Amino acid sequence: MRTDVLIVGSGFASSLLARALVENGLGVIIVERSAHPRFSLGESTTPLGNLALERIARRYGWRDVWNLATWGRLTEHHPELRCGKKRGFTFLGAHASTEVMVAASPNDVVADTQWLRADVDEYLARAAVAAGAVLLERTNLVSIQIEATRVSAHAVDASSEAVEISAGFVVDGSGPGGLLATQLDLPQRSRLPFASSLLFGHFEGLAEPRPLMDGMPYKPAHSAVHHSVDTGWLYELRFDDRHAQPSLTSCGWVLEHERCERLGVELAGSDPEELHELLLRRSPRLQQRFAEAQLTRPIELRGSMQWRLEGAVGERFALMPQAYAFYDPMFSVGIAWSLLAVERLGEMLGDSRSGPDLVELQRYGSLLAREADHIELLIAGAYSVMDNVEDLGWYAQAYFAAASFTETQQRMLPAPADGWHWRALLGADDDQLCDIVRAAHGFASEGSPGLLARKMPGLVAPRNVAGLANPASHPWYAVDLETVVDKAHLLGLDRETARSRLPLLLGQAWGQ
Ligand SMILES: Cc1cc2nc3c(=O)[nH]c(=O)nc-3n(C[C@H](O)[C@H](O)[C@H](O)COP(=O)(O)OP(=O)(O)OC[C@H]3O[C@@H](n4cnc5c(N)ncnc54)[C@H](O)[C@@H]3O)c2cc1C
Repeated sequence: MRTDVLIVGSGFASSLLARALVENGLGVIIVERSAHPRFSLGESTTPLGNLALERIARRYGWRDVWNLATWGRLTEHHPELRCGKKRGFTFLGAHASTEVMVAASPNDVVADTQWLRADVDEYLARAAVAAGAVLLERTNLVSIQIEATRVSAHAVDASSEAVEISAGFVVDGSGPGGLLATQLDLPQRSRLPFASSLLFGHFEGLAEPRPLMDGMPYKPAHSAVHHSVDTGWLYELRFDDRHAQPSLTSCGWVLEHERCERLGVELAGSDPEELHELLLRRSPRLQQRFAEAQLTRPIELRGSMQWRLEGAVGERFALMPQAYAFYDPMFSVGIAWSLLAVERLGEMLGDSRSGPDLVELQRYGSLLAREADHIELLIAGAYSVMDNVEDLGWYAQAYFAAASFTETQQRMLPAPADGWHWRALLGADDDQLCDIVRAAHGFASEGSPGLLARKMPGLVAPRNVAGLANPASHPWYAVDLETVVDKAHLLGLDRETARSRLPLLLGQAWGQ
């Protein structure tokens, strides 16, 4: 088979890219070793991801994709896709009194979403096929060779038949430890600042995390819940119960190797279900909540999650972010990062059969490296304090400052000439945000009690357009648009202009 672009893997990012390229007139073959609907992790969207999805939808004129970008639109226009409402991030500790809640959206309509990836990815894969992409499911790409003028790939289909593909360019969307890294023996970073394993499953009937109380910015069940535990942290993402009773929840224990070793929690060779039971016994509050929960598929233990290559591009190939670097589900950065890559690669590949220009490829690779360094530092700081929810809640204000500043900037200011998608994720190219993350990481590493609570308010101030790290509001933060007006000068706007642009933060209609 001959094509212009070969894409390995059919996650949502690969499928969106494939659809864009075929609509530009290129031939695209996607090779997927599994078959849709297939299980996948990485379910929690964020405002920066929604923004990227909206830009993609506008650029290509895809109203259906526009409608995937917020919980309100998704549930109204795609009722067949299972999802959950996500109003913000919640951090819960071992004791009922310790919790931090940070709202990410002003209302339910523009809320973020927990995507049931099986449904969303299948929808996007089928849409790419409808647009003209060739999707080879149950086909495992096993080897690839980059030659002078072409890429030659060898795959094996479900009937063990060989499939030979010749392409002009290849995009690797196969995830960590993916195809190109192994086939091309791409250099991998040997030392990363932390290491953890993941024990994950989908559960039915998990009791809700906390009841709604007066003054809470949202219902805790409608958020990405981060539980601090002595072995690391546990994420909890709840799907709506419109489709299934009892409702479905995605949970994963992030098990930091050093902490587990210190506490005598064996990971290697452990039976996943027994390990889950053992971890629950260590956290009585969680054990109580999981009492009625039933797994919908076997719980799985994945060894060291961290993954970082030295480069993301080469002549005739580019890696998607997740195939290049992965650190931790903390702060849910993956979907937004992957969508930025779709924007960048879609533009670079355009309608050219000869693949992107080398200078542009290098630019893509350098930006990914910068973003990966920024994410690594941000998460390394969280690893220092992840078992102490007070400190984690204060430390996380650095992430929230980066996310809210860049989102507000992108919604309220005119786009630069080359587009917002060439600005780095979470302000990795903004010196001030880099300084904030670096200093917060330093404070977290010091491990001095109360230091983060004292330092974070002053530290985030130059990029604080959202009233974060405020001892008067802590630990509950609602979205307050008046704060954006008060802090408009940080965005280079006067109060009146900022006020006139507030509707841009409340979501736009298609075509606006
Ligand atoms: C534990 C965990 C939790 C996460 N949580 C979040 C979160 O809450 N929010 C967030 O924004 N991000 C999260 N992420 C990141 C998110 O999952 C990724 O950003 C996203 O999945 C990337 O999508 P993708 O389309 O590039 O590829 P993926 O979704 O990773 O898909 C890769 C595809 O490639 C296929 N494949 C692999 N090898 C081959 C081969 N040799 N031949 C053919 N096909 C192949 C696989 O079958 C798979 O379908 C999380 C990641 C992990 C690991």
